[in-house]
Amino acid sequence: MTFHNTLSFAQQLDSEDTLAHFRSEFYIPQKNGKPIIYLCGNSLGLQPKNVKAAIEQELKDWAELGVEGHFAGKNPWMYYHHFLTEQAAGVVGAKPSEVVIMNNLTANLHLMMVSFYRPTKTRYKIIMEGNAFPSDQYAMETQARFHGFNPDDAIIELKPREGEYTLRTEDIIDKINAHKDELAIVMMGGVNYYTGQAYDMQTITKIAHEAGANVGFDCAHAAGNLYLQLHNWNVDFAVWCTYKYLNSGPGGTSGVFVHERHGNNPELIRFAGWWGHDEQERFQMKKGFKPMQGAAGWQLSNAQIFPMAIHKASLELFAQAGMNKLRAKSEMLTGYLEFILSEYSEHLTVITPRKPAERGCQLSIIVKENGKKLFDYLEANGIMPDWREPDVIRMSPVPMYNTFEEVFRIGEILKNYFA
Ligand SMILES: *Cc1c(COP(=O)(O)O)cnc(C)c1O
Repeated sequence: MTFHNTLSFAQQLDSEDTLAHFRSEFYIPQKNGKPIIYLCGNSLGLQPKNVKAAIEQELKDWAELGVEGHFAGKNPWMYYHHFLTEQAAGVVGAKPSEVVIMNNLTANLHLMMVSFYRPTKTRYKIIMEGNAFPSDQYAMETQARFHGFNPDDAIIELKPREGEYTLRTEDIIDKINAHKDELAIVMMGGVNYYTGQAYDMQTITKIAHEAGANVGFDCAHAAGNLYLQLHNWNVDFAVWCTYKYLNSGPGGTSGVFVHERHGNNPELIRFAGWWGHDEQERFQMKKGFKPMQGAAGWQLSNAQIFPMAIHKASLELFAQAGMNKLRAKSEMLTGYLEFILSEYSEHLTVITPRKPAERGCQLSIIVKENGKKLFDYLEANGIMPDWREPDVIRMSPVPMYNTFEEVFRIGEILKNYFA
């Protein structure tokens, strides 16, 4: 598609956008009485309007039923995770039995590492992306220590080539193959939070499996953003949070994917709790852990109803819109932002890969001079991107509620700034 830097062109795209009505399902933060151009869906997605009623339903059941809400509530709390799995599975390309919603992201990452990082004296290395999100770095560092290894030795970080910002798939493959006799696991992001690069999860999984390693992805920046096919790609496990692209509120709950070939193996080592125990027997309070089938067998605690109620409401919008359609719009929307930014290429560099298949919504921008000053100017002018140390401005137009006209307006504000 040929883009044009005109208001009428942007408005034309909005009028042809079959998902445009979803914007009215969200609260858009305001500044001076006008909606902000919100570009932080990669950090905290906006609040869907249907969330309030979803929470009120659970408050009502609690008020009226007390403990009986576990069985007599409108959405009985005892079975609450079941009400989310089908739609969550649709978002990440999994079978419902392969997905469970529980806990928070980093806690789930550790739980998955318990099962999938089973190092031996000779096969104990972890490959991860350098400059990963700090929580993932700390998780891998302490996992290595937990098993008695020195993280500096056990963790192999993937680094871009000199003068480049992002990783080449061929280099990832070479690194996996170079360490294939000592590699226990590849644990990477699906999309890097800093550069916005989307990794080729299917290829990485295939190569890592051939090398005899397990593969897990932290899909915090990929879930609700990319068109994921975790089951077909044969990924061993994945984890994601729900408060970024999935709009499920600050500190919201998290998702876990465990491929069915592992999920139905009760012998697989795990850290267990009563909510992962066979549902038929859960309240018999018997000795001896018998896991539920599938990802549900990793649950520890009784469901966190309020964050999960938010997520359930939000997932309804994803089911209505369809991840494939959201992704198609996203490619256009981010493509349009890239086009608008390219008018200022003498002042700024987009470090996110140019190919749509290698990125999601987000573009990461390095400004040649004083990026922080531009960031402050954007904020003062009704745009909300975010700033990541040391020098990146992240902008994520999301297909659920951002518009082409907003992207056009970003260009107008940049024009004033660089004039
Ligand atoms: C956002 C994010 C986190 C945050 O973890 P929480 O446990 O939800 O606080 C961790 N890892 C990655 C890759 C992230 O993008």
